[in-house]
Amino acid sequence: MFKRTKLYSMLFLKCPRCKKGKFLESHPYQLSSGLNKVKPRCPKFDLNYHIEPAFYTGSMYVSYAVGVAIGVAIFVLTFFSGLAKHPLAIFSYIVLGLFLLMPYIGAVSKSIWAHFFLK
Ligand SMILES: [Zn+2]
Repeated sequence: MFKRTKLYSMLFLKCPRCKKGKFLESHPYQLSSGLNKVKPRCPKFDLNYHIEPAFYTGSMYVSYAVGVAIGVAIFVLTFFSGLAKHPLAIFSYIVLGLFLLMPYIGAVSKSIWAHFFLK
C-alpha cells in the first residue's frame, strides 16, 4: 500500500509516474560512479527524466529546504533528548548530520523536484 504513494517514491528514489523504475544511475552513497546522476529515462515505462537542459538545477532550492528541515529535526532530537544542551555541541551535531546525509539529501531533492514537474 505504502509503495504506491508519492512519498514512498520520493524517499526511495523511484520513478514519479510508475513508482517502480529506478530514478538514479547508482546508489547515492556510491560516490565513485557520478554523484546522484539521474537516468535518462524510466527503465520500466520510458518516461523522459530530462525534459529540458539543466532541469535539475532547480533542485538546489529543494535541497536547501530539506537541509533546513533535517537541521531542525536534529536540533529538536539533540536538545529535547538531553544529548546536548550547549549551542556549539548542538551545532556540531547538525553539521555532522548534514555532512553524513549530504549524498542522500542531493538525491532526494532531485527526486522531489522530478515529482513536482514530471507526471
Ligand atoms: Zn516509470
